[in-house]
Amino acid sequence: MPTIDYNYKIDDIVAKIEELDAKNVILQFPEGLKMDATEVANEIDEKTPTDVNILIDADACFGACDLADHKVNGHMDLVVHFAHTTLGLETDCPVMYIEASSSADIKAPLLDALSKIEDPDVKCVGVITTTQHIHNLDDMIQIIKDEGYDVKTSPGVTTAKGQVLGCNFTSIKNLDVDVIIYVGSGDFHALGVKLFTKKPVIVADPFKGSARDIEEFYDRILRVRFARITKAKDAKSFGIIISSKKGQLRFDLALKLKKLIKEHGFDAQILNMDYISPDRLLPFNLDAYVMTACPRIAIDDNAMYKKPILTPQELEIVLGIRTWDDYLMDEIIIHDKQQ
Ligand code: SF4
Repeated sequence: MPTIDYNYKIDDIVAKIEELDAKNVILQFPEGLKMDATEVANEIDEKTPTDVNILIDADACFGACDLADHKVNGHMDLVVHFAHTTLGLETDCPVMYIEASSSADIKAPLLDALSKIEDPDVKCVGVITTTQHIHNLDDMIQIIKDEGYDVKTSPGVTTAKGQVLGCNFTSIKNLDVDVIIYVGSGDFHALGVKLFTKKPVIVADPFKGSARDIEEFYDRILRVRFARITKAKDAKSFGIIISSKKGQLRFDLALKLKKLIKEHGFDAQILNMDYISPDRLLPFNLDAYVMTACPRIAIDDNAMYKKPILTPQELEIVLGIRTWDDYLMDEIIIHDKQQ
């Protein structure tokens, strides 16, 4: 397997520190890049004056919804946040976003994905990707065109052209295409695209160097979600989970759901957490939970929880106000996150 490098833009970071005359700088890496954190911190340290303090945030970080600007008692002058782009959140101190662009080859998996299109009527392909590969979007478009297809991409709400997040699929919702290729790792984003568009979706995985169809994963996840919803129909009490992470907090939604649950004759409590994990729920005698924080938790972490963890849309199915045929993935679009 080839070595994957990420562009951490050290010189840009050093220039930003100088521009802001920042003395206390905290570096925030997602879990998958934390192994590079000490090396990156050392490099910045060597290139900045001795009165500049570089810290590494060791807490878990999964997205730009979770910024370290308020940490260390407000002593930070700058957050350098790697691998995600801004969600437009207000922050207590300046935040510099570094995409951490990946050097992984996108051509081989993309060609593999195109070779999986068997329907001769397919004329137009939509392409989407994540922050680490977005710098290759023009190349992706050209590769698809060279294979004889039309290509469409679109920007989304707070996302760049062709970019999707695990909680924001706005860039694909209005794409009039026959097939969608997702360039990235993991299946979650492709699952969301499939749920929103119902079109064939193929994952072109730059880290594996190959492509795969999403249909089997899609069917398996839908079966699991159906089972969780069915189990939750026996629940008499619900915990509505909110997160105090700035970009995940949907307090008004939690209040609305609590009212809804009570109107249907069940008990409901709102539980506030920062980092959400199964052990935090152990003390509570509640039958099922509704996740208003990161939408990935209910789907991706499902196996870690004994009791059903539902999305707000799944709760609506449990309460009989949405049908299974109208199943939708949850999203957090920052400009309406308080709704
Ligand atoms: S809420 Fe979840 S999917 Fe959205 S940016 Fe945060 S970690 Fe990613």
